[in-house]
Amino acid sequence: MESETEQLIAYVERNIERTLADCTTCGKCFDACPMTEYSAALNGKTGPEVVAGIRSLLAGDGGTPAALEWTRVCTQSARCIPACPENVNPMLMMRLSRITALGSTGGPALLPDGKRDPNFFRRINAFSALQFSDAELAAWQR
Ligand code: SF4
Repeated sequence: MESETEQLIAYVERNIERTLADCTTCGKCFDACPMTEYSAALNGKTGPEVVAGIRSLLAGDGGTPAALEWTRVCTQSARCIPACPENVNPMLMMRLSRITALGSTGGPALLPDGKRDPNFFRRINAFSALQFSDAELAAWQR
């Protein structure tokens, strides 16, 4: 029987897999993000370019400096959600990116502060409970 930790990691991995399958790297979520203008490192970057880095990060390939920067500045405004034409939920994609970049799933810590997230599991639970209805959670977990 899987422990709660194993179940949560499996939940994260399932959602990463689903995001990688459904995201077309169109970049519309990046274009809708209100935080990018506050980061000089994201100046001039295009949505497809940065999202390609997010996909690389989620796939375990390390991402790009721009993808890590977007992950760092994300405040979960949720403006990206209606911008996505593929029903991916980019806000969840960014949360998964942050979890991955912090090394919370066992990979290297890639964000500048380099810390592992001590509240990873508590935050996953809270995030799941706060952001989704039961029906939406069931859809994500399929
Ligand atoms: S808007 Fe949706 S499909 Fe387009 S890059 Fe963002 S998550 Fe992927």
